[in-house]
Amino acid sequence: MKKTLSFLILIIVCQVQMTAQTPHFKCGYDHFITMKKHHDPHWFGLNQQMFEACKNNRGGGTGGVYTLPVVFHVLYNNDSQNIPDSVIYSQLDVLNEDYRRLNADAVNTREIFLPVAADCEIQFALATVDPQGNPTTGIEHIMTDRTEFTLEIFSTVNTLDEVKHTSTGGADAWDTEHYINIWICNVTTDFPGAQIFGMSYPPGGLDNWPANSNAPTAEDDGIVIHYTTVGRNNPVSEDDGTDLNDLGRTLSHEMGHYLGLRHTWGDEFFGDVCSEDDGIDDTPLCGSGDQFECDLTANTCDDGTLNDQPDMIENYMDYNQDACYNMFTEGQKTWMRYALEELRSGLLQPLDIRTMHTMEKITWPNPTSDALFVNSQLRGSDYTIYNAAGQMIERGNIRSNSLSVADLQSGLYFIQFDMENMTFSNRFMVRD
Ligand SMILES: [Zn+2]
Repeated sequence: MKKTLSFLILIIVCQVQMTAQTPHFKCGYDHFITMKKHHDPHWFGLNQQMFEACKNNRGGGTGGVYTLPVVFHVLYNNDSQNIPDSVIYSQLDVLNEDYRRLNADAVNTREIFLPVAADCEIQFALATVDPQGNPTTGIEHIMTDRTEFTLEIFSTVNTLDEVKHTSTGGADAWDTEHYINIWICNVTTDFPGAQIFGMSYPPGGLDNWPANSNAPTAEDDGIVIHYTTVGRNNPVSEDDGTDLNDLGRTLSHEMGHYLGLRHTWGDEFFGDVCSEDDGIDDTPLCGSGDQFECDLTANTCDDGTLNDQPDMIENYMDYNQDACYNMFTEGQKTWMRYALEELRSGLLQPLDIRTMHTMEKITWPNPTSDALFVNSQLRGSDYTIYNAAGQMIERGNIRSNSLSVADLQSGLYFIQFDMENMTFSNRFMVRD
C-alpha cells in the first residue's frame, strides 16, 4: 500500500495544480485504489463478474426503502471545529434528499440522463440507541488535543484512521456492523497545500474492487469528513479556502463509496483512461473526474458513435462542485442496495434488536423459499419476524425446528428469538 499511496497522490497533485491554485480533492480514496488495480491483472474480469452477479440479484428494490442508522463523532480542538447539531441536521437533510432524489436541483439533470436518474430508496436517520442500549441523539461532541488528523502521504497505513480511536486522540467507533460511523474533524495532509475533504472504505467482499480496499479492521470502517464540508448552513464552510463544497455533498459522495460505488471514471489516471470503467452500465464511460469544473461539454471518451454520451458530471460519484451534482443512476442504486443487503446487512436490523453471535447457526438456509430451519437450542422460545422496514410481520413460539415462510413475500426479513434473558436474531431472504 505504501508505494500505491505515495506514487498516486503525487500524480494527482501535479495534475490538479496545473489547473487550480489550491488543490482540493473530493476524497482521498483514489490515491490508494488505482495502483492496486494496476497490480491486479484479474481486476477487470472480477469487476464484470461482480456486476453480472449484482444485476442478476434482487438488489434493485424488492426490499422497499431502507433506513440506515448513523452516528456522528465530532472531534474538535477549537470552537470552529465543533460543528453544531443544527449543521449536522442540515447534513442529514442533504443526504436524504440526494439518496431519495428529492434534491431541488434534480431539475438540472440533463434530459439525456433522466431515464436513468434514480431514487435509491435509501435514507439515513440519527441513531436513537447506542451500543449499550441507552438512548442517544446520534451525535457525539468530543474535545481532543489533536489540532488536526493528517493523511500522511508516505505512510504505510492510512493515518487518517487515527481519528477512529480514542487512544490516538479520536473517538472509538460504535459497532460498525450496526451503525454507519461518521467522524467529523480537521482533515489535513502532509503534502503542502493539498486538502482532502473526505474518505471512506467500501464494504469488504465486493469483487469489483481491488483486494484489501475495505477497512483494515472492523473498528476502522466508516467515513471521515473535513469539518468545513458538513451541511449547507455551515458557518465555517469557507475555512478551507473554497466555496465549491458548501452544500454538504462531500458526504453524499463518500456514502456512495461506503455503499460500494466507485468513481464514475473508474479511478484510472494512466495510459488508456477510457479502457477502465466503474462497472456500472448506465454511467457513461469517462476518462477522468470533472475536477470541480462543472463542464457540461466534457466528453472525455467520445467513441464517435451516434449513441455516445457526454461525461455524467452531475453524478455524485464524479469529482465536482457541490452545486453541479444532482443524480445517482439506476445502476448505482442496484449496486448500492446489493452491497447493503449482502455485505452491510447489519445496518438493516431494527435498532432495538441486539444481535448475539454465540450460536453457530441460528437459522438456515438463506435464501429460502418455503421453510426456515431453526437451531434446536431455540426450541420453545418466542420469535418475531420483521420486514426490512422494521415492521413486525409475524410472532409466535417455536414448537419444532422449522418454520414455514411460504406465505411471506419475496424480500429481506429479520427473525428475533427471545429466550429467557437472551435475544438472538438473524436475517434471511425469501425468494419465490
Ligand atoms: Zn471519491
